[in-house]
Amino acid sequence: MEQYLTNSEKETKNLASKLAKKIHGVIALSGELGAGKTTFVQGFAAGLGIKDKIISPTFVLIRQHKIPKSKKLLYHIDLYRIEKDFSQLGLEEILENTDNIVVIEWAEKLKNLPKGTIRIVIQKQREDERLITLS
Ligand code: ADP
Ligand code: MG
Repeated sequence: MEQYLTNSEKETKNLASKLAKKIHGVIALSGELGAGKTTFVQGFAAGLGIKDKIISPTFVLIRQHKIPKSKKLLYHIDLYRIEKDFSQLGLEEILENTDNIVVIEWAEKLKNLPKGTIRIVIQKQREDERLITLS
């Protein structure tokens, strides 16, 4: 288990950007609304060299970003609005392709995450303070 305390949006982005250089595969993000999950993904994508604007995919559910100088894709998934039926989303296909880097907001809604999934929990401590736990 690794824990980090950040004191601003910028610090969370910097941390995520650094983690992007060492974490590959599937990342399950949890934390209440406004915890900083999308902020984390923005920093993570920047760390991969992605210049696209990373917005919350709440209505689209899945966004795909090409990773520069790599054959891999970053998938940004947000399950906030999903109720029960995941079968239409094509998630399995995305998750089982080990060439994909997949970051999932509200990942606690998924029961079967691949082995080796990194779990990241973001907890709001105070106004701008967040406790970020990796396991
Ligand atoms: P989520 O995707 O979890 O709902 P967002 O990333 O969209 O959350 O929003 C997080 C909000 O909290 C942003 O407005 C951001 O500026 C603010 N914030 C304040 N402090 C931090 C911090 N330390 N880390 C991340 N976000 C922070
Ligand atoms: Mg979000």
